[in-house]
Amino acid sequence: MNGRRDAIVVGAGIVGICCARYLQREGFSVTAVTRDPPGEACSAGNSGGFGVSLIAPVATPGILSRIPSLWLDPRKPLAIEVSLLPRLLPWFARFVSTSTPARYRAASRARASLCERVFEALEPLLQDAGAESLVRPRGMMFVYDSEESLAAARPVHDVARAHGVPLEELDAESVRNREPALGARARCGVVSPTTRHTTNPRRLVQMLAADFRRRGGRVVEAEVRAVEGGERPRVVLAEESIAAQRIVVAAGVWSGSLVRHFGLRVLLAAERGYHLMAPGDGVRLTAPVTLSDRNVVITPMENGIRVTGMAEFARVDSPPNVGRARRMLAQAEDYVPGLDLSGAKWWMGPRPSTPDSLPIIGPCPGEPRVLLAFGHGHMGLAFAAITGRLVASLAVGRPPDVDLAPFAPARFTRGIAPA
Ligand SMILES: Cc1cc2nc3c(=O)[nH]c(=O)nc-3n(C[C@H](O)[C@H](O)[C@H](O)COP(=O)(O)OP(=O)(O)OC[C@H]3O[C@@H](n4cnc5c(N)ncnc54)[C@H](O)[C@@H]3O)c2cc1C
Repeated sequence: MNGRRDAIVVGAGIVGICCARYLQREGFSVTAVTRDPPGEACSAGNSGGFGVSLIAPVATPGILSRIPSLWLDPRKPLAIEVSLLPRLLPWFARFVSTSTPARYRAASRARASLCERVFEALEPLLQDAGAESLVRPRGMMFVYDSEESLAAARPVHDVARAHGVPLEELDAESVRNREPALGARARCGVVSPTTRHTTNPRRLVQMLAADFRRRGGRVVEAEVRAVEGGERPRVVLAEESIAAQRIVVAAGVWSGSLVRHFGLRVLLAAERGYHLMAPGDGVRLTAPVTLSDRNVVITPMENGIRVTGMAEFARVDSPPNVGRARRMLAQAEDYVPGLDLSGAKWWMGPRPSTPDSLPIIGPCPGEPRVLLAFGHGHMGLAFAAITGRLVASLAVGRPPDVDLAPFAPARFTRGIAPA
């Protein structure tokens, strides 16, 4: 590439901003175009976990037999908007088909290749932004109601161990020694010492975005109507269009519609999650705790205690089901005596989820100058910085240090990828 390099990133969630920063580090002049202010979409309200022990994909072998019980569970950890079912069928078919042992192993390997690089990619961005104190190296704990449920989860933890992730099992006493705020319901646990968490995911994106601007990056708050390919690709806004040498589509769950006219039909679902945020007066937690039997995560944040959960497959703009989410998330009170969620503020955000639990990272088929970086599902916070680094490698034509084949955008258009 000759002369000044320039790039446009569509989206300023955690993934878009990390792509923008890594492109900037490669010497690109970067414009981020975003409908919402940086960090205000899905990236605002997550659980804050850099979950480097979450190597196994969601579609574990045998998942098919567990879906009905999750769906029919009166506590509703899984909800599906029924009128959307016909459109979701291909997604669920692919989800189930990736749960064979061989595909499960392949997806675990691919996730491990990102998990291994989470912090080496994140740290330079935190340092540049002076945001190191927003990420705490305190580990996280999965707790279980019984030895039986821990035993049922052990195969998933064993996948992480097989990839070199340290995990330590704890009895009831050790669980409470680690987190004295937990009550008697948590009978045993597993600690992931290498997991870190941010105490404010929204502020983290805002600080990275401020650093991006300070270094000459431009943030344009506008809706991208279309992305056009070619020698010098462009984004079309309401009144103008802007061209650059490279365009990165990092628009979270909204990305699919921006690339459809390239003939790319990605399987991307809005898997909506909720949080309740309570002041948490008097409740002291040192690190995130996952209530594994309830599919709920509790995280100590800088402005209170955040309780997150729900996998609600719905239209991105359907009205939120706040009552259901409150009932589901209030289960956290059973585990943390003293936690009062009655007046807690709620939030809902759409995880951009692929059926194989792998993000889409790579050039758009047939449009080598349009790079795709979306579909990070439950791992967008954790995988954002390494995604940014990989995208920047692709943008300058340097071979990326991760095998990108499992993340290739075309895997959904070619039918089911071989394991
Ligand atoms: C309850 C919950 C808990 C979670 N917990 C964790 C966790 O602990 N760890 C973890 O790693 N992940 C977690 N996640 C997932 C994580 O939050 C997401 O994967 C991540 O935020 C996705 O980031 P993104 O940048 O791709 O999308 P978003 O944050 O949604 O950003 C999309 C951006 O694209 C812009 N955009 C969209 N369409 C257009 C358009 N047409 N024109 C211009 N701009 C556009 C938006 O304005 C926005 O700026 C959680 C998610 C939820 C809901």
